[in-house]
Amino acid sequence: MTDKYCVFGNPISHSKSPIIHAAFARQTGQDIEYRAILAPTDGFADAVDAFIAEGGKGANVTLPFKQEAFQLATRLTLRAEQAGAVNTLVFNDNEVVGDNTDGVGLLRDIMINLRYPIKGKRVLLLGAGGASRGVVGPLLGELPESLTIANRTVPRARSLAEHFASVGPVTGCGYDELAGRVFDIVINATSASLSGTMPPLPEGIFAPGSLAYKMMYGMGDTPFSTFARAQGVGLFSEGLGMLLEQAAESFFLWRGIRPNCAPVAELLQTKA
Ligand code: NDP
Repeated sequence: MTDKYCVFGNPISHSKSPIIHAAFARQTGQDIEYRAILAPTDGFADAVDAFIAEGGKGANVTLPFKQEAFQLATRLTLRAEQAGAVNTLVFNDNEVVGDNTDGVGLLRDIMINLRYPIKGKRVLLLGAGGASRGVVGPLLGELPESLTIANRTVPRARSLAEHFASVGPVTGCGYDELAGRVFDIVINATSASLSGTMPPLPEGIFAPGSLAYKMMYGMGDTPFSTFARAQGVGLFSEGLGMLLEQAAESFFLWRGIRPNCAPVAELLQTKA
């Protein structure tokens, strides 16, 4: 029987996950069905139960349910526990395992696809929402010289940094505290592009040869990409690679086989 998987979200019609997982399944010869499920904002747990009842083997979880998925899981992986959020569920006979593949997705995109090492680098993470929370632990695991989290609502940046203080050299601040500082990697994990803006970064923030990475993908030029290029950033990339790599990690958890993301990236670009 064909194994069933899905992604839960609200809204969900924009999700590229069904295309990605269908491509992974074709590439690896796995017989799976993967669909998008619009769960009511107050009905996530019921939607999961219904999917398990129809034989669902696993699921991805996106906005706004990542925290609820964290609560619902009966067992959490270490990286899900660190992130405080779950984006991948595995339905075993007697348990619901919650994992978080966002962090490893970002790391694989930066270190393997872009061949940009993190060890010893000065990293600036913009934003302190769910996406940032998922990547702080994995970033610190790569032993950067420092990790600075800057956020519009400063207490959120500070409390996120405090939460991870025992893991590595991380501090939280406001954007006005960045003046005069220089970074090798600047990751924009804010949703500011949605309103056509960017966090107020000072000039001179990019070290020579630095990497600017925008987690939000598929928006063309944004104020952040324009600013980074004008400031002479060495490499600019956006989050399609992260999206694919976190999906590949979920696929690996479910099927025990790791798909190749490069051909699927090409497929998505031709469909864009
Ligand atoms: P959240 O809503 O949890 O957090 C949003 C963050 O953006 C907050 O830190 C918020 O600051 C900040 N922000 C919003 N508007 C502005 C603005 N105008 N100026 C400055 N800061 C702003 O969202 P997520 O963390 O879940 O997602 C963030 C982005 O990352 C989204 O665009 C999402 O699409 C993308 N993403 C990409 C992934 C990928 O695979 N490529 C995976 C996960 C997320 P404040 O705290 O002050 O409100």
